[in-house]
Amino acid sequence: MKEIRFFSGKDIPLERHRVYLVRKLNLLPVEERLQKLQEAKSNLYLLHNKDIFLDMLTDSGVNALSDNQLAAMMNADDAYAGSESFYQLEAKVKELFGMDHFLPAHQGRGCEKVLSDLLVKPGDIVPMNYHFTTTKSHIVRCGGEVVELLPPESLECESNLKFKGNIDIGMLKDVFEKNHERIPFVRLEAGTNLIGGQPFSLDNLKKTSEVCRSYDTPLVLDASLLQDNLYFMKIEDPDCQDLTIREITKVVGDLCDIIYFSARKLGFARGGGIAMREGPLVVKLKELIVLNEGFHTYGGMSVKDIAAITVGLEETMDMEMISQGPLFIKYMVEELDKRGVPVVTPPGGLGCHLDAMRFVPNIPQNQYPAAALAAAVYLAGGIRGMERGTLSEDRNLDGSERFASMELLRCAMPRRVFTLSQVEFAIDRIHWLWENRELIEGLEFTLEPKILRFFVGELKPVSDWQEKIVKRFRQDFGDSL
Ligand SMILES: *Cc1c(COP(=O)(O)O)cnc(C)c1O
Repeated sequence: MKEIRFFSGKDIPLERHRVYLVRKLNLLPVEERLQKLQEAKSNLYLLHNKDIFLDMLTDSGVNALSDNQLAAMMNADDAYAGSESFYQLEAKVKELFGMDHFLPAHQGRGCEKVLSDLLVKPGDIVPMNYHFTTTKSHIVRCGGEVVELLPPESLECESNLKFKGNIDIGMLKDVFEKNHERIPFVRLEAGTNLIGGQPFSLDNLKKTSEVCRSYDTPLVLDASLLQDNLYFMKIEDPDCQDLTIREITKVVGDLCDIIYFSARKLGFARGGGIAMREGPLVVKLKELIVLNEGFHTYGGMSVKDIAAITVGLEETMDMEMISQGPLFIKYMVEELDKRGVPVVTPPGGLGCHLDAMRFVPNIPQNQYPAAALAAAVYLAGGIRGMERGTLSEDRNLDGSERFASMELLRCAMPRRVFTLSQVEFAIDRIHWLWENRELIEGLEFTLEPKILRFFVGELKPVSDWQEKIVKRFRQDFGDSL
């Protein structure tokens, strides 16, 4: 990718697209933000979208479409069975990853459900670099256990490690030596979500693949955030310097046995699917897809989305497209870092991650520091981030809290959605909150679901701290929104 430099020497990310369809945003006065937060039981998932100014909850299904995607959607071939749009997607997946089969699913967790149903039995262990919420729930539901193999350095928020998503190969070999008969597959997650969108290196993938092949165990890649991983490989990985994005993708495909992804992220559309080579698993998985997701030429997706994914996957091969997310995230991370705000470094993909353990060290983990910070950021600027910490963990079987190793507030950067001045606004309001962080206190559950409790659980503040933030806001910002 050719760089574009400013005469002034300014180092800011530049949008490589123009906006031609817009949606008006609404920033409520701070008093109304408090009211909406209370109505949503301090769980930002329960807010209404119209009451949010910058929705940085997720990059899932909310990335901006390209003109070519929209055109392909208009031209999609609608059929229950045998849609031409599906065959085009299957051919694109084969071209990029070299996989013979593509089994569509309605989204990433649909892939995880059928893979877990087929492969995981009680007593199994599934080694991986790090878990993702829905992945773990499906593996545990099937009686399996997740074993995470990141070295401790990768879980430190402040770091210079370039590939924090790398599996510790020594630990992987160790797990195999002790328990290889209990391992149905190894899972590697690209752009490792819950530790801050952090990539693995090509060499690490090669070594993981070698270990798996020596034990005849499939290597499953969760490629939902592969576009960010590919970007970082191209920028930082010495083994990828002479390869194009397309060539790196092909090498990645060659090293894995099964690749599944959420197309709400990879491919910038909606949907998902599982790519794999010929083998006995194909027929069995196909049965489960038809049973759970839909006929195997749509898998719960609309044909419009299928057509958009095909174009989106091709666009993923373009550095000017896939660089936009990471460059804007880098800007936000570095600007917050300059102001002393604790953030996860180095900047990863997916979003800018605030470190709640350092932002609000006064809040104990059983009062959900990252969730409290999320509520405070909404009050400060109508900005919705996502808690990624203890609240996102379900309790242990004995009812005790499972404390997360990191307490993060993710401010996701959906791709090509926000402009630089909107990112500046988010930086400014988070900075203000940092200067007033002593006001923020914890949350407690008033209604706590057993599974994936962060989605629909209801909470309340442990004191009147949210009112205090509103009062301070008025003192500092006058009658500003
Ligand atoms: C989002 C995500 C999933 C689940 O995908 P959905 O489409 O939300 O069901 C799985 N793995 C990773 C790494 C993800 O980021």
